[in-house]
Amino acid sequence: MRVLGKAGVGLLSAAARAVIPCLWRGKYFSSGKEPVENNAVTPMLRHLMYKIKSTGPITVAEYMKEVLTNPAKGYYVHRDMLGEKGDFITSPEISQMFGELLGIWFISEWMATGKTATFQLVELGPGRGTLAGDILRVFSQLGSVLKNCDISIHLVEVSQKLSEIQALTLTEEKVPLERSAGSPVYMKGVTKSGIPISWYRDLQDVPKGYSFYLAHEFFDVLPVHKFQKTPQGWREVFVDIDSKVPDKLRFVLAPCATPAEAFIQHDETRDHVEVCPDAGVIIQEISERIALAGGAALIADYGHDGTKTDTFRGFCGHKLHDVLIAPGTADLTADVDFSYLRRMAQDKVASLGPIKQQMFLKNMGIDVRLKVLLDKSDEPSLRQQLLQGYDMLMNPKKMGERFNFFALLPHERLHGGSHQRNARQSKPSPSPVAGFSELVWK
Ligand code: SAH
Repeated sequence: MRVLGKAGVGLLSAAARAVIPCLWRGKYFSSGKEPVENNAVTPMLRHLMYKIKSTGPITVAEYMKEVLTNPAKGYYVHRDMLGEKGDFITSPEISQMFGELLGIWFISEWMATGKTATFQLVELGPGRGTLAGDILRVFSQLGSVLKNCDISIHLVEVSQKLSEIQALTLTEEKVPLERSAGSPVYMKGVTKSGIPISWYRDLQDVPKGYSFYLAHEFFDVLPVHKFQKTPQGWREVFVDIDSKVPDKLRFVLAPCATPAEAFIQHDETRDHVEVCPDAGVIIQEISERIALAGGAALIADYGHDGTKTDTFRGFCGHKLHDVLIAPGTADLTADVDFSYLRRMAQDKVASLGPIKQQMFLKNMGIDVRLKVLLDKSDEPSLRQQLLQGYDMLMNPKKMGERFNFFALLPHERLHGGSHQRNARQSKPSPSPVAGFSELVWK
């Protein structure tokens, strides 16, 4: 991991980051028990009531999917919900150091696996493009290391509005974007550093090839099914119209077993579980791709290892929000179950983590990076912003312990492979994976 020293990247990112009174989404909020703050009849509420009246109560997964990504009215589709003026804030929006260290992680993995002549960086749910921008700046700074490598960027994004913001953040404005609404690649351009960049709605459409996959606060917005243990067995939670209060939704339990019950483990001991089949499908796709073509995936999110129960919650204007009130105006999210992701991946690839964000960033050298940036900056407001950002990312009471890092890697990366052998070694000795073990300074 000498790269970091060289990256010295004394550079301060031009974009001022928002700090700090904002709320991050990892905060726990139990659904449906908080006082009603807003009972507006939104277009989404009307749409859902119509749907429930015509075909009956819907699963929480269907509710989440409609509310967040319905192409006409979905929360994510037409707005910028991130940052101070939005509903919640994320790590890359807080500090440039976050994306820079992730950029170093990908380069470190690329070097450890034999420096392929080409790689794709595939980001799922890129938000405002801030994280990709910070990673690309590191790639440029380390141009001498990457000079013979053909890199391309592939963004998987369902939001029209956010894809426009990503393009503004990341692309060279002198090169016009190619748009093609009906095509799986709905937008194409060139980044400010001259790298080809493409947008997709679905991971399936991203070309298969040696790739690094990145998902930060993406898996937590995928729809979950919720189940309650009852004396009759598992019963799925549905969303229905509250017959006693006008224009209000409520949770009900299904009267009999439902198909998604198949996702619950036979030896499950909790009395309430959330399962996310969409996450399983995406993890299987990524794992198959990594096993076939090489690369790695880095997934960062708040979550648990198969231990938590009811984590479904909403955020609006940096406040916790009742998930059933004014749907379409607030973000909905549920903690990621990393034990499920591991199960979905394990036949095809190896996994590492989850480990706490604080530990991962420390192992990646955030303290050294902070010192470099502080030394370069004599503006008090900038120094304060760097220190506050560091505290927000690292403090165990803030994001340091709630957020986790989880990686998928080809089996041979952890257990040794032919490219890592040299003439004197009979046994392969793979280098440690950065971030998941302590950084060794050589
Ligand atoms: N990674 C960013 C943004 C997190 S918010 C950050 O950390 O700042 C979630 C992101 O996922 C948004 O960009 C949202 O539009 C996108 N998204 C939500 N559901 C999606 C889906 N089903 N497919 C692709 N992108 C999705």
